[in-house]
Amino acid sequence: MKEQALKDLREKIGYDYTFDCVQCGYCLPACPTYETMGKETHSPRGRINLVKMVAEEKMALEDLREPIEKCLGCQACVTACPTNTQYGRILEGAQEVLNDSEKKSVSKKLTEKIVFDTFFPSSKWMAGFGHVMWGYEKTGLQKAVRKSGLTKLAPLNLGKFEEIIPSPAAPKERKARKTYYPAKGKAKATVALFTGCIMDSTFFSTNQNTITLLNHAGANVYIPEAQTCCGALHSHSGDVKQARELAKSNIKAFEEINVDFVVNNAGGCGAQLTEYDHLLSNEAEWRDRARSFVEKSKDISTVLWELGGVSFLEEKEEVVTYQPSCHLTHVQKVTKEPKALIQALSGVVFNEMKDEQKCCGSAGIYNIVHYDDAMEILDVKMSHMKPTKAHTIITTNPGCLLQMKMGIKREGLEDSVRAVHLVDFLSERLPLT
Ligand code: SF4
Ligand code: SF4
Repeated sequence: MKEQALKDLREKIGYDYTFDCVQCGYCLPACPTYETMGKETHSPRGRINLVKMVAEEKMALEDLREPIEKCLGCQACVTACPTNTQYGRILEGAQEVLNDSEKKSVSKKLTEKIVFDTFFPSSKWMAGFGHVMWGYEKTGLQKAVRKSGLTKLAPLNLGKFEEIIPSPAAPKERKARKTYYPAKGKAKATVALFTGCIMDSTFFSTNQNTITLLNHAGANVYIPEAQTCCGALHSHSGDVKQARELAKSNIKAFEEINVDFVVNNAGGCGAQLTEYDHLLSNEAEWRDRARSFVEKSKDISTVLWELGGVSFLEEKEEVVTYQPSCHLTHVQKVTKEPKALIQALSGVVFNEMKDEQKCCGSAGIYNIVHYDDAMEILDVKMSHMKPTKAHTIITTNPGCLLQMKMGIKREGLEDSVRAVHLVDFLSERLPLT
């Protein structure tokens, strides 16, 4: 490889970061893919070594593809690392280099263009998807399809996911959404809600519950209409260029309103929002604007806690456990607030799950593209969930929520256990008046 090309590769792939790793192996017990796949190449330390070898031309780039694609990106290794090795940066660099070098078929390119560049960034398309899913359920088509077994024919095991997606909101509910919701009583803060693409199309009611909770906690809530997808799926698939464009659109949309916080309720989206300053660090016009956006971006649990907790909620008895979102835990470093909110509720018995901070195997679209690996990781998770005797698994991200629903189904526990987003769980305790 020519000198300049090698320099560029090393810069892009995060070669400099690899020297922070001292090979101690403290990250190995934290890594779910090392646990289930049992190979050094599928551990954090192994992947870092492979990246280093590619950057030193000791190994072909193509040999890096499988170990990197099989990484969940959960970043539990970053939390476990005593030398603070930035594995996330190394992974992101490797994903970008692999994406740039991939010889994609015309159909793959077209699918990516439609899904990533057209579908996810458009709130109209995402709402349209919600309308279609609503019609699919309400016309009885869903029941007929499930009864006929046609879901088994869907590619990538999508039929299995079809059976666990929640009931979509009615078009009239979406239409009724306002752009501003005032606080109940005296306002303590003014916030803007990041609604997300999948959250708003598939978990619309969770977004509405988020607004209601914030209002009860004393926040005025704005919903900027020009906001778009956070770009997490783009970043994770190596399409950093499009991720930067989405970051700029969101910064612009939220700058138009002067708020104390930009609130999100999805760990994966929230992590991406807090990476905007890194994503745009080389663009002078955007650097400061991105930093200011990141400073205001917060998970709903943090904002509720900062606004004084949830003492306005009513008592209801329930045995629960908590499956934290990896990106909330290991990227945003939010660990105490969700649990504190749960434990502050009277009537709730909280039983912690062993290894709760380990990924459940959802990881964006990992459970779709690497279904079998994701299910193996999920089975380990469920083996830790069962001894808690919880009737409710609380999560903080839509992907984790669906994965937990999948785990409940695989274990045949549908009649005794449910999975629910933290926001919906808290909202069930809102006073009726
Ligand atoms: S990534 Fe960190 S914890 Fe893992 S081997 Fe390297 S230095 Fe040790
Ligand atoms: S990001 Fe998660 S799956 Fe990937 S190496 Fe780190 S701990 Fe393992």
